[in-house]
Amino acid sequence: MVNSVYAGLPTTIFEVMSGLARDTGAINLGQGFPDTPGPEALRRKAAELVVDGWNQYPPMRGVPELRQAAAGHYRRFQGLDLDWETEVTVTSGATEALAASFLALIEPGDEVVLFQPLYDAYAPLIRRAGGVARLVRLTPPDWRIGREALAAAFTPRTRLVVFNNPLNPAGVVFPHEDLALLAEFCVVHDAIAICDEVWEQVVFDGRRHVPLMALPGMRERTVKIGSAGKMFALTGWKVGFVCAAPELTAAVAKAHQFLTFTTPPNLQAAVAWGLGNCDDWFEAMPRDLQRSRDRLAAGLRSEGFAVLDSGGTYFLNIDLAASGVDADDRTFCLRAVKEAGVAAIPVSTFYETDPVTSVVRLCFAKVDATLDAGVERLARARKLF
Ligand code: PMP
Ligand code: GLN
Repeated sequence: MVNSVYAGLPTTIFEVMSGLARDTGAINLGQGFPDTPGPEALRRKAAELVVDGWNQYPPMRGVPELRQAAAGHYRRFQGLDLDWETEVTVTSGATEALAASFLALIEPGDEVVLFQPLYDAYAPLIRRAGGVARLVRLTPPDWRIGREALAAAFTPRTRLVVFNNPLNPAGVVFPHEDLALLAEFCVVHDAIAICDEVWEQVVFDGRRHVPLMALPGMRERTVKIGSAGKMFALTGWKVGFVCAAPELTAAVAKAHQFLTFTTPPNLQAAVAWGLGNCDDWFEAMPRDLQRSRDRLAAGLRSEGFAVLDSGGTYFLNIDLAASGVDADDRTFCLRAVKEAGVAAIPVSTFYETDPVTSVVRLCFAKVDATLDAGVERLARARKLF
């Protein structure tokens, strides 16, 4: 009756855990969203634009001021030289950008290299587009990319590689060496890189995001995806960007035109305003999140949890085995939400094969009181085992 890709697919773990948190009244450190309302000036601008701005269909590739603002932002922050007219498309969030990219660039039977742990939308979208997943398994505590693993995954049939940096759920910002290695394989195999860089502004400890597109040989073969929801801590604003060379952009835009055609014009205009007027936000947001990361990590360590490093994203991970907790991640998370009042995400969900089963992801984009209560409840959860 239904398509085989979807027939056996579970509901996404983010929805499952947020649903359980809602039902049980648990503190939600699962799904990645801040519990603060987001930048007020930007929300007021959006409200003004709903009332006084354009509310009919905008141009299919996005309103010009947002495409210009995105190109300008990436020039200033990442040194990229993008032509806003031929190389930038606005989508309804990064999720639509991913779907459009896969639909536009995959021929049935094409191989797609993916890194596990992998964001849960990738594999079903790729299979539905006819792609064949070739999985590279990354493991804690470093989650590094190895030459041998790439050599085993890339073949003459490789069409795409999907690279999420910073990596959700691991919280890793890949070092330059790994980017260079991946670029080398893309060039040698004439593959296109779909770069999910939604966390590009959420990096800590003085890091600066380096887009794979900036590496030698990658400018013409990279599709760079961003998300205003992540840039401005407004995750429900599904406004995304796709940046790619004109030929790739043209193909992705053709898929986009029959997925959503456009994205609400008032939100697009608000994001354009934000990109031009919020430089102080791009300083303050990662600084505040870094402080929250450190607060959660310190609290967890004081309760005996082994905390893995987080260089970016809203997430840090704990290793249950190294914390002396005798449970797999899924059992721990289900009992934690039901019996200790705290929701978290089992990282094994992000593996298609041979899962790492002792790592649990926690979202620290929360106010101090939520983080402190979360630590106390996780300590309670620990005692269940
Ligand atoms: N990719 C990754 C790695 C994500 O973490 C997320 C959401 N957190 C998305 C894509 C989806 O972004 P959007 O909400 O803009 O669709
Ligand atoms: N990306 C968010 C996370 O990792 C979830 C987004 C979603 O629920 N689709 O938590």
